[in-house]
Amino acid sequence: MSKQQTIVILGGGTAGWMTANLLHLQLAKHGFKVLVIESPEIGIIGVGEGSTPQLKVFFDLLGITEQQWMPQCDATYKYGIRFNAWTEHKEAPNTYFHPFPASTDGHSAKAFLGATHYLRSGQPAAPHPDRYFLATYLATANKTPKLKNPSTALPAVSYGYHFDSYKLGAYLKRHGEDQGIETMSATIASAQAEHGNILSLTTTDNTTITADWFFDCSGFNSILLQKTLHVPFESFADHLYNDSAIATPTPCQGQELGQTEATALSAGWAWRIPLQSRIGNGYVFSSHYKSFAEAETEFCEHLGLDPNTASFRRIKMRVGQVAQHWSGNCVGVGLAQGFIEPLEATALHLVQETVTQFIGAFTAGNFTTRHQNQFNEVIKQRFLGVKDYITGHYVLNQRTDSRYWEDCRSTVKPTPSLNKIMACWASNGDLQQLLQEQGLAAYYPSISWYCLLSGYHTYQDSHLAQWQNDNTTVQEVARFLHEQCALFA
Ligand SMILES: Cc1cc2nc3c(=O)[nH]c(=O)nc-3n(C[C@H](O)[C@H](O)[C@H](O)COP(=O)(O)OP(=O)(O)OC[C@H]3O[C@@H](n4cnc5c(N)ncnc54)[C@H](O)[C@@H]3O)c2cc1C
Repeated sequence: MSKQQTIVILGGGTAGWMTANLLHLQLAKHGFKVLVIESPEIGIIGVGEGSTPQLKVFFDLLGITEQQWMPQCDATYKYGIRFNAWTEHKEAPNTYFHPFPASTDGHSAKAFLGATHYLRSGQPAAPHPDRYFLATYLATANKTPKLKNPSTALPAVSYGYHFDSYKLGAYLKRHGEDQGIETMSATIASAQAEHGNILSLTTTDNTTITADWFFDCSGFNSILLQKTLHVPFESFADHLYNDSAIATPTPCQGQELGQTEATALSAGWAWRIPLQSRIGNGYVFSSHYKSFAEAETEFCEHLGLDPNTASFRRIKMRVGQVAQHWSGNCVGVGLAQGFIEPLEATALHLVQETVTQFIGAFTAGNFTTRHQNQFNEVIKQRFLGVKDYITGHYVLNQRTDSRYWEDCRSTVKPTPSLNKIMACWASNGDLQQLLQEQGLAAYYPSISWYCLLSGYHTYQDSHLAQWQNDNTTVQEVARFLHEQCALFA
């Protein structure tokens, strides 16, 4: 490619800066210049404090070490998510941990899968996810993912992070600018398009900006993809009822465990995310069941805060995805392309996946739109795969204390793929094989599905009565995992 081409990224939130850094890293050598436009008046959404292990891959790609970025972003390690009070059982615990898998888990995960088969066929077993994964032990013991003796021949553990989203955005901006990414502080008043392509952007002070390629990272505004190119938005509201959130920080209470907590409340769930200097808290709920004021009252009670002095950020969420993530010369990334509520903290994972897949398709097509349809299909399926897993939490909940939870169970219609998964589980079929055959394991690993289904005690009542806490296999696995856990600092 001879002539220099310009990529404009509209939006300097986490999505905009992750996109800018990845594009610059991969495309600057091919003659592309990257410009980020961000509006100081509009600002960023400023929530989103948890990641999947994919974020480690992102920093590794950019050559940024944990020592460099974590202290500057108030970041802590995250081994997974603890789901509290989504069930109301007497026989088995009403909390479970969804761990990020470690390569050491092969032995214990096999025992876990076996235990679910036993209980599904009515034989005594204790298939509680908490007992079978190294990540759960590390989170409970408050360990770092680093080995005490780095020469120990142990495979690595997989982990994500918690972070302050404002600080992470600012860090990525500094890093990007150091690498040569250009920044412009401006608010875009309008965008001009022709034949399905963005031609230019006009700022509120009447400056015109042209470019060859545009990335819409303008958050829920989706100024380019939805408002200018009129790409339709496909709502997930029939499956995922939550459309609102409130958020407030509280002080740290000593050193915290490396886990996000997702605790069910009467019309949604509350997150609790431990950072180095504060706790991030939020309540994600459905406005059809609770107003903001009612949610704040309930949340104050949950957090033990005084409703007269507590203050909350109020956030509206649009849950769904655009029909085409790449349209003409414009690609949507982040909230501008879609959002699947934050229960499994997958949004930044999808940002990274979108940009990585785009770079793959774009470079394979010699910087043209040749592989655009294929890219669009991959990203669309990715969103749908994650959506199925999140929907599973709501459909499988076993709370009886409010209409919200009853409606999530009875009025949400699972997609055909989710139905197949639940039917396979109920008939004690081989879920691993089904997920492989259907190509669903690419979106969520089979272990995650087993944790979800077993964590919510999706067993016949007569089988659940066979729940047995202390069998020999569980004790052996616990001994093994305790030994492994002791190797970490
Ligand atoms: C309640 C909640 C909890 C969440 N929790 C998680 C989580 O735990 N983990 C996770 O991965 N994700 C989470 N997310 C999602 C996460 O917040 C976002 O994916 C992430 O912050 C990226 O946002 P963004 O950059 O797309 O949008 P924003 O942060 O909104 O950034 C948009 C950018 O566009 C700019 N802009 C907008 N309009 C204009 C204009 N006219 N002119 C110029 N600039 C403009 C803004 O100034 C800003 O810079 C959560 C989201 C919500 C709502």
